[in-house]
Amino acid sequence: MNKIVYICVGTCKAEISEEQYKGGLTKCGGEGCTLKGHDFAKRLKCGECGMIFKEEENHTH
Ligand SMILES: [Zn+2]
Ligand SMILES: [Zn+2]
Repeated sequence: MNKIVYICVGTCKAEISEEQYKGGLTKCGGEGCTLKGHDFAKRLKCGECGMIFKEEENHTH
């Protein structure tokens, strides 16, 4: 099953859970990250292989 995750698309490549995001962690705070202070992007993570992909992407095995 796919899981919702939020990632920073900047240089820090941070990945946070939906729970963390809903808990108020919505912006990257990575020191030196190119997107520090920017909102995280919503992605889906495959529960089988761990690959992260966009919601509109069709990820199958
Ligand atoms: Zn970042
Ligand atoms: Zn997969």
